[in-house]
Amino acid sequence: MSRTTADSCPGVLQLHEAADGPLARVRIPGGRLAPGQLRTLAEAAHRLGDGNIELTSRGNVQLRRVRDAGALADLLGNAGLLPSRTHERIRNIIASPLSGRIGPHLDIRPLVTALDARLLDSPRLAGLPGRVLFTVDDGRGDVSGLRPDIGIHGLGDDRFALLLAGRDSGVRVSAGEAVETLAAAAHGFLELGTGQWRLQEIDDGIERLTALLGRAPGTERLEFAETADPPIGWLPQDDGLVALGAGVRLGSLSARIAEFLAAIERPILLTPWRSLVITDLGDGPAEQVVRVLAPMGLLFDADSPWLRITACTGRPGCAKSHTDIRADAAAAVEAGRTTAARTLEADTVPAAAAVVTSGRQHWSGCDRHCGRPAGSITEVTATPGGYRVVSPSN
Ligand code: SF4
Repeated sequence: MSRTTADSCPGVLQLHEAADGPLARVRIPGGRLAPGQLRTLAEAAHRLGDGNIELTSRGNVQLRRVRDAGALADLLGNAGLLPSRTHERIRNIIASPLSGRIGPHLDIRPLVTALDARLLDSPRLAGLPGRVLFTVDDGRGDVSGLRPDIGIHGLGDDRFALLLAGRDSGVRVSAGEAVETLAAAAHGFLELGTGQWRLQEIDDGIERLTALLGRAPGTERLEFAETADPPIGWLPQDDGLVALGAGVRLGSLSARIAEFLAAIERPILLTPWRSLVITDLGDGPAEQVVRVLAPMGLLFDADSPWLRITACTGRPGCAKSHTDIRADAAAAVEAGRTTAARTLEADTVPAAAAVVTSGRQHWSGCDRHCGRPAGSITEVTATPGGYRVVSPSN
């Protein structure tokens, strides 16, 4: 399929008119937030939005029902969350969240900073579609499976595999070449000039882009699986400090909890699994954080049923939805119906209160299944007559 229109991904300056009001998406390259930036997002959600910060599957955030777009841009700009008015929608960079703190892999944080700066530095790259995704995986394999258009994957010896269209291209680059190669690939995507929104949509995209880069691929091809489990709970850092991985119910973080998180005065990492990591804590403060924030709803238990559930926007944010899908999903979790041992009879279409499921599951308000994670997952889909539940074994 050939695209005939520019992509319409929202940003801070280009809002999406959702059914419940204007929606803004704020790019957070590498998911890294300084405490003051999180405080600003909380203020924006509270004062200019609906009181919540939505975490996205790219480690970005969204604010719904934005009342004053100009005030939002000013607020975020002053906090360093809108460093460019021309490039804001293309800063889609997911990086291994624990890199540099936990594990023996190369610390890729400087590469993420350099890549973001390199993207901002090129006027031409402002023309990239807002859907193009960059990933920087330090080699642990947590984000390379997220099907980036353009990415690098650490090989452990100062070399990286270049990923194109979600696959290993066979090209290998040094750490010193990595950022320039990623930027060159982004320019190459534009040079292909197809009008497509993703490299995956271009026929022979990997081969054509590799040729444009003037790189000869080797024969080795790595395979990457999508990681479903976010880092949750007590995570000892290599420097003796502690990180805390926290799940967020259905990816919706209240401004009030965000204010508490900002008050910890430690860097916060947003993950592509709609969770977050509070970093650089001592043991005592970490225990206190759990004591305060767990009762408020943050999830520090890796066995929580909330961590197995994702849901699309549904009503009232999406007019296509047959129901308030998030309310139905939440009610099912609270009632213990998402960890049920029994399964529904085939061909039944139960009402919301009769849905029973188990395992990883994605709840959708209609057949589009927006936000469905890749891989094996039970689909719980609202229809005009009730719910359809399709498990991977069906
Ligand atoms: S899956 Fe359907 S109801 Fe849910 S957000 Fe997408 S279009 Fe809307």
